[in-house]
Amino acid sequence: MTDKKNLRTPIVCVMGHVDHGKTTLLDKIRGTAIVSGEAGAITQHIGATEVPIDVIVNKLGDPRLRDRFMVPGLLFIDTPGHHAFTTLRSRGGALADLAIVVVDINEGFKPQTYESLQILKRFKTPFVVVANKIDRIGGWASHKDMPFAATFKQQSPDVQGRLETKLYEVIGELYNQGFAAERYDRVTNFQKTLGVVPASAVTGEGIPDVLMVLLGLAQKFLEANLQYSAKNPGIGTVLEVKEEKGLGATLDVILYDGTLKKGDTVVIGSLGEPIRTKVRALLKPRELSEIRYESKFKQVSKVTAAAGVKISAPGLEGALAGSPIRVSTEENLEEIVAQVKSEIDEVRIDTGSVGVMIKADTLGSLEALVHEFQKDEVPIRKAEVGDISHRDAVEASTVEDPLYSVLIGFNVKVHPDARDFLQESTVKVFTSDVIYRLVEDYQKYVKEQQE
Ligand code: GDP
Ligand code: MG
Repeated sequence: MTDKKNLRTPIVCVMGHVDHGKTTLLDKIRGTAIVSGEAGAITQHIGATEVPIDVIVNKLGDPRLRDRFMVPGLLFIDTPGHHAFTTLRSRGGALADLAIVVVDINEGFKPQTYESLQILKRFKTPFVVVANKIDRIGGWASHKDMPFAATFKQQSPDVQGRLETKLYEVIGELYNQGFAAERYDRVTNFQKTLGVVPASAVTGEGIPDVLMVLLGLAQKFLEANLQYSAKNPGIGTVLEVKEEKGLGATLDVILYDGTLKKGDTVVIGSLGEPIRTKVRALLKPRELSEIRYESKFKQVSKVTAAAGVKISAPGLEGALAGSPIRVSTEENLEEIVAQVKSEIDEVRIDTGSVGVMIKADTLGSLEALVHEFQKDEVPIRKAEVGDISHRDAVEASTVEDPLYSVLIGFNVKVHPDARDFLQESTVKVFTSDVIYRLVEDYQKYVKEQQE
């Protein structure tokens, strides 16, 4: 029997197409957790929100469920989108243990829906699909925060029929993408079949069901992954490098194993040699009741996985979003530095002499982008984290083959001096915040060139 104490909170990312309701869903989950009564039950982290199991079980309205689930709750990453998902990488995979893919039931699949599914398939991450905005179905009678089955029963047969039709369009699309899917309450084996929950992020209908399916997935698929010990040295991923007033460069980190303490020596990935520094302060957001304080943050002496925390320390300027952060002792410092370095190098691309140049904003997105272009057998000359600089522009312009005199930028800026240079040059530039679109646009360009 697994010991409950050794299971950490699973980390959940919300993905899906823009405007399909990711942010609203996250707000709803946070909101219902607060409203459900237990003040302080919900814990605000840096970059994430923790919903404890008791709050979820209360919502489900069946106290017997309390003993069925082993995990202590769910930790939702506050930044929605597959961007956060890919940024949050860990060695050999994704940091998020679970995901929610939100799709507007009235609009159906869109580019970022497909992209989310591709990413999750690649990382073999268990997920649930939320068929959102059911309250927009013609004639729908809303019942605030009700479980799906209960609100569905109260709809007229016409409305029920409309929902089923739209739902099975979503299920059909999933099938085309290689997923056997079914309305979640009709799934008998979640190992074989993907659950789809009809819901509304605005009215809260179906949201208890979403939480229950997530807990079920954690229970079925993740027990081994969630084993951890608070005694382990802390390991995390850098979510963001952020300038804070009075603190300088700080790191927002999601810790996924062990414990991180004030004063610990940590090693962090950067573009050059890994950074070695000592944690000066660990910061958490203040509770709403504490806003009389000047600073948004309060100090804590340690955090235990899974948690989101802000780290203040000297020398963090060059840290890379998406890179690992590991606690070391004096004895194993060199070993840990080598480990972090090799984790970063895994992502970097051997610079071939021929190929396109790729720039991305984080290590995780770079990895995803490189993967997609390699899948299409597009040669890559260089792949780096960072904005498109004048130097990049010049370098691309020296390539004669128009197929490779190409700059591909994901979620990065083009520096003004680079922009000026590029306007005068024949270099082809593609920028987007959708990976899929970059791949498609490049393919289209290649076809045009070959005609
Ligand atoms: P995101 O881009 O995926 O984060 O989408 P948002 O959460 O920002 O939602 C986009 C728009 O859809 C907003 O105007 C929301 O109020 C609305 N919306 C989101 N979920 C629902 C829903 O379940 N029902 C209805 N009627 N509107 C929704
Ligand atoms: Mg949003």
